[in-house]
Amino acid sequence: MSAPSDTQRMEKIVSLCKRRGFIFQSSEIYGGLNGAWDYGPLGVELKRNLKNHWWHVTVHERDDVVGMDGSILTHPSVLRASGHVEGFSDPMIDCRTCKAHLRADQLVEKKGVKQCPNCGGKDLTAPRQFNLMFETHVGAATDESSIAYLRPETAQSIFVQFKNILEVSRKKLPFGIAQIGKAFRNEINPRNFTFRSREFEQMELEYFCRPEQGMELLEYWKEERLKFYENIGIPRSKLHVLTVPDEERAFYSKGTYDIDYDFPFGRQELEGVAYRTDYDLSQHQKASGKSLEYFDEEAKQRFVPHVVEPSAGVDRTVLALICEAYSEDQAPDEKGKMEMRVVLRFHPRMAPVKCGVFPLLKNNPQLVAKAKEIVGLLRPYMTVFYDESGAIGRRYRRQDEIGTPFGITVDFETLGEKDPALRDTVTLRDRDSMKQERVAIKDLPEIFRERLA
Ligand code: ATP
Repeated sequence: MSAPSDTQRMEKIVSLCKRRGFIFQSSEIYGGLNGAWDYGPLGVELKRNLKNHWWHVTVHERDDVVGMDGSILTHPSVLRASGHVEGFSDPMIDCRTCKAHLRADQLVEKKGVKQCPNCGGKDLTAPRQFNLMFETHVGAATDESSIAYLRPETAQSIFVQFKNILEVSRKKLPFGIAQIGKAFRNEINPRNFTFRSREFEQMELEYFCRPEQGMELLEYWKEERLKFYENIGIPRSKLHVLTVPDEERAFYSKGTYDIDYDFPFGRQELEGVAYRTDYDLSQHQKASGKSLEYFDEEAKQRFVPHVVEPSAGVDRTVLALICEAYSEDQAPDEKGKMEMRVVLRFHPRMAPVKCGVFPLLKNNPQLVAKAKEIVGLLRPYMTVFYDESGAIGRRYRRQDEIGTPFGITVDFETLGEKDPALRDTVTLRDRDSMKQERVAIKDLPEIFRERLA
């Protein structure tokens, strides 16, 4: 159970996300679609910054990883071979009192008796397996022969395309194939805002290797992934590596780590890093009858590669970024009186808007023209928000609340009215320290290149 303050914190975060346009409930005007979320103008920027950064460090910065983008609609044979049709299910229990459908692990136990977490009812059905895959039909017929599935993970299309990608990329082991894309799971109980959704995005890497490299690469990727989170502003102290015990691990995995984060609603999984052996490729080789072997030219050996998989959730990481960034402190209002300030302390790399640009007065054409000139100067490099309405303190506050790390104010000194030496300089305000410095307009691109790197 989370502490009341954490519940309040979560409520404030959810409300901020809606109020400022990060995340909305899907189909809200029709009462909402449970387990589905829409990202608004700021949410989509944050999400893109995250995905772009993952792609950059996982694919672009490496010689040993290539990307792909597979289809969501998946042939049933793929998911039969992977074991999903047979076994991708959660045990489900119904509460006969309040009619809730529950995952078996959500029941609460009091004095040795299992109860419904919603109503405390003890009249519960026996657990039965509920398959989490969304089934659909392809084409006009709606019979057995037309069944297809919305993929429950992006990984399978990577395994199925392994041979094609190996041939076109001419990579040698160890090498990886990366993919970012939507996945769908008919979760029994979507909850904790976007944390457990029915439609979500994954960032997955399948890193193929020789069998003897598997355990070492598992350690390597766990460390790489921890570094990744630290580099986007999630401190190591809030991340926890859980070694998944033998009895909970998939039978084919020789080692799995969960990387958990301290969300306000508890410590929960952000990512799984698993050594999946040669299970997936072998299964697809067997089921398709097509060779998925790798030929090692030097050793003159032919074998099915093993794989290590770091599999992260985009939406869960976005939520972690927002939860981590949310803070309240004190800042002076217009009259210098201290007031509560809500600020999202995003790492500048993740912030949806990098810089706010404000002319001191909106009815002064010279100030406005200069501010717009600065917007034009910076826009090729970053997302910039121009705001001329309201008192300057209010404008700062609006940007603090969405996590904009920098604010530029164009004032009369910029026009050289007070001191010609200050002509074409502006104040640059830092979101976190609220300190202001006077800098030359021409230096702005270089300053931001350094601070946003
Ligand atoms: P959980 O135990 O929380 O259901 P999982 O272990 O089934 O997750 P994986 O199959 O390992 O998850 O999927 C990899 C990643 O995909 C997870 O670490 C998570 O970030 C993300 N993910 C999985 N299911 C969901 C979901 N329902 N909503 C949002 N993200 C999800």
